[in-house]
Amino acid sequence: MKILIVEDELIYRRMVKKQLLEADHDIVEAEDGRAAWELFQREPFQFVITDWMMPGLDGPELIRNIRKSRQENYTYIIMLTAMNDKENIVVGLESGADEYLTKPFNSRELIARVASGMRILKLEEQLMHARKQMEVLAMHDSLTGLLNRRAIDEYAEGEFSRAVRQERALSVIMIDVDHFKGVNDRFGHKVGDRALQRVAGILTSDLRGYDRVGRWGGEEFILILPDTPLDGAAKVAERLRVRTEEMKISLENDELFSIHISLGVACSCGQFQSTAKLIDAADQALYKAKQNGRNRVCVFES
Ligand code: GH3
Ligand code: MG
Ligand code: MG
Ligand code: MG
Repeated sequence: MKILIVEDELIYRRMVKKQLLEADHDIVEAEDGRAAWELFQREPFQFVITDWMMPGLDGPELIRNIRKSRQENYTYIIMLTAMNDKENIVVGLESGADEYLTKPFNSRELIARVASGMRILKLEEQLMHARKQMEVLAMHDSLTGLLNRRAIDEYAEGEFSRAVRQERALSVIMIDVDHFKGVNDRFGHKVGDRALQRVAGILTSDLRGYDRVGRWGGEEFILILPDTPLDGAAKVAERLRVRTEEMKISLENDELFSIHISLGVACSCGQFQSTAKLIDAADQALYKAKQNGRNRVCVFES
């Protein structure tokens, strides 16, 4: 991790630099606050050691700029100051510094403070990582790895607004596994789970950039296809139907079985008032596919 040293007095800058290099840190130097702020805007450093009194932009101003810039990662800031009365130190900390050292500083103390800042940054990084993992978990279905209902619904909402705004087509395909209860009854729930994972695999196999698949519920899935007209979506649906039909799932005794899906397709093309109405239309088409004998694609026609 690079440390940005901001100090207008050459002698102090050299001293800090020397100590940090000896402790194996990577450093970048800036000769005043303004130069530091320019460097920071190009490359948001995660560790800054800054002097207080500098011409142009002083330490507290630099720190306030950094804090206002709201980087994704936290920047740990140590302020170096010749002003060692309590009142000034409080002002420095209030500007957003995490720590301060008074000049002339003790080199071992400097290294120890840097190490403690690094520990805090490491903790912060671990927290961010854990939070990102939780976000991923909260959005995905654990059995199939697909987006869960809430996440796909949110995605559909966003794409629906975009389609309305840009007057583009938005298609939805609703998918339901045929007689799936029978699969569970004949082969057991575990085999049923595996069948759902295989279906998920087919549904995700050739998506384009903005296409998304979600698990809508038990053995129901949904595909959101932005910029796709009804006939295009119907072709996608038919391809998925055929692939599912051709897929062989093996049992423990090496016997094979296959499953079928029914699919309902609807396209917004400006005719639906809301995402829910569009999804409902795809659902109605799916119902028709079931009524007409399953293992088929039906499109919604108003
Ligand atoms: P249809 O062709 O009319 O859709 O018939 P179906 O049997 O598929 O429909 P039904 O709604 O009667 O049954 C759905 C079954 O899906 C019942 C439920 O136990 C099963 N199911 C739902 N979620 C899961 C799951 O996560 N794993 C397994 N193994 N089965 C599931
Ligand atoms: Mg100075
Ligand atoms: Mg169902
Ligand atoms: Mg079903």
